[in-house]
Amino acid sequence: MLLKDALTSAIHRLTDSKVGSPRMNAEVLLMFTLDTDRAFLYAHPERELATAEYARYEQAITQRASGVPSQYITGHQEFWGMDFIVSPAVLIPRPETEHLIETVLEIRTSDRGRQTSDPVLRIVDVGTGSGCIALALAKELPSAEIHATDISPDALEIAEANAARHQLERQITFHDTDLLQGLEGQGFDFVVSNPPYVGEAEEDQVQLEVRKFEPRNAVFAGPTGLEVIERLIPQAEATLKPQGWLVMEISGTIAQGVERLLAGWKDVRITNDLQGIPRVARARKA
Ligand code: GLN
Repeated sequence: MLLKDALTSAIHRLTDSKVGSPRMNAEVLLMFTLDTDRAFLYAHPERELATAEYARYEQAITQRASGVPSQYITGHQEFWGMDFIVSPAVLIPRPETEHLIETVLEIRTSDRGRQTSDPVLRIVDVGTGSGCIALALAKELPSAEIHATDISPDALEIAEANAARHQLERQITFHDTDLLQGLEGQGFDFVVSNPPYVGEAEEDQVQLEVRKFEPRNAVFAGPTGLEVIERLIPQAEATLKPQGWLVMEISGTIAQGVERLLAGWKDVRITNDLQGIPRVARARKA
C-alpha cells in the first residue's frame, strides 16, 4: 500500500464515521505510526508502507473512527509549548487552559511591583491531571515552589512522568489527596485549578468523545457544575496566605454562581477566553 493511498482511504473512513477534521486526524495518526513529520508525508506520497506499518495505521484509524481522541492514541498533547504524555486516566490539556497560566503570570508581575522583598513563591495546582498547569508554571517561574494534588493515583503517575521528562521533578511536590485536604494552613501565594465544572444537566451539550473517553470525574462536578468549586473555595481560603490568590478555570454557565461563591473575597474578576466565553476567575483572599 502506498502512503498516499493509505492516507486517502483513512480520510474516507474517518469522514464516514463523522470524525471532525478527517484529513488532520488521518495525517496525525500516520505521522505517529511512521514516527515522522508532516513534511515527510507530503514529500513521499509514493513511499510503500510495510505490512506491519499499515496494520498499525489501520488499528489507529479504527480506534479514531470509534471516537477515541487522537491524543489517547498517540499518547501526547502539546500545552504551553511543552509536550505532555496523556492517557485515558487524565483530561487532555486544552488550549483555553493556557489563559490560567497567563493570568497567574500577569498577577505575579503586577504584585511584584508592589513588593520590596521577593520571597519564594508557593503555588498549588489542584486536580493536576496530566500536570500541565503545574509544569507550565514551574517552567515559567523556576524559583517558585510548586505543589500539585490529585485524587487519582493513575493521574498522579502521569503527572510525575511528565515532570521527570521535563526535568521539573525537583521543583514540584505531588500530593495524593482530595482537593486541598492536608494542605490547610500552609500559607500558599496561589491556589490554581482547572476543576471539573460541567453540570450533569449540560451533559448532552458535551462532545460525545469527551463523555465517552475522558475521565468523568475530571469533567463533571455534579448536577449543576458548581459542586467541586463550592468545596474548593473554602479549602483554598484555608490554604492561602492573606492576600493570596485563587485562580480557577470556569465556564460561562457557572460564571454567575462562581461570583456568588466568591463574595467575601477581594479583587474578584472573571476574564474571557478567545471565543469571548468567561474562562478564568481570580480572587484575592481578604
Ligand atoms: N489540570 C489538568 C488540566 O488542566 C486536569 C484538569 C482536570 O482533570 N479537571 O488539564
